Amino acid sequence: MSNVNAKLPKQRAILFLVLLSAIALIAAVTTSGQQQQPPPAQPPWPSPKKEPVVVTPGAKPGDAPSDAIVLFDGKDLSGWKSLRDGSDAKWVVRDGYMEVAPRTGDIATKAEWGDCQLHIEWATPSEVKGEGQGRGNSGVFLMGHYEVQVLDSWQNPTYFHGQAASVYKQHAPLANASRKPGEWQYYDIIFTSPRFDEIGKVVRRARVTVFHNGVLVQNNVEIFGETWNDRAPQYVAHPNVGPLKLQDHGNPMRFRNIWVRKL
Ligand code: MG
Repeated sequence: MSNVNAKLPKQRAILFLVLLSAIALIAAVTTSGQQQQPPPAQPPWPSPKKEPVVVTPGAKPGDAPSDAIVLFDGKDLSGWKSLRDGSDAKWVVRDGYMEVAPRTGDIATKAEWGDCQLHIEWATPSEVKGEGQGRGNSGVFLMGHYEVQVLDSWQNPTYFHGQAASVYKQHAPLANASRKPGEWQYYDIIFTSPRFDEIGKVVRRARVTVFHNGVLVQNNVEIFGETWNDRAPQYVAHPNVGPLKLQDHGNPMRFRNIWVRKL
């Protein structure tokens, strides 16, 4: 009897060791199987199918890259028209810039587009005249409809969503990055045009990002509609391309080095 009783724990121990070995073997096979599994030929997430286009950047910051449309190169206004009657733009060209000829009206490019990257340089008069909205006022109107305000905002208080780099009467800039009167300044703008359905209802509002002298001042903000002065913004259906309009607000504002990349 005592002999049989002594055998039982030994058998159990052997059985336990066999089980343990089997588990270790299964674990080893499973692990090695995982290690040997080849990486998937295609990742499970979407991957770009098209090679990015080659664009030669400008020689220095602000210069037009190779795929840009130059809208004003400092020599002539042949790419622009007067919005008063569609005739040749009447603004003055000298020394590489154009200057608003006050009371000749707004001007616009003959070229039209929708989504874009825009570079434009501007300067307010070095001789300070007027105040608030009356001092160095113009405007960059995307598609001819949506105004990024141009104003002498150097120590010139006005309503916040009416100062330089505001989306006029909709969004104040995140910062006032204005230079002094007479100094050249610039905007780099990324604009996504609004989308309308077949009955002219806006189905996606426009969006805009603006850098003022290299400072981010509008961060992909939604445009609520036409940037009117006297009414709440509202969308009015228009074609999916439009010109760049520059405003004659009665001040001799200057512009130069204007180019656009269609997106
Ligand atoms: Mg304006």
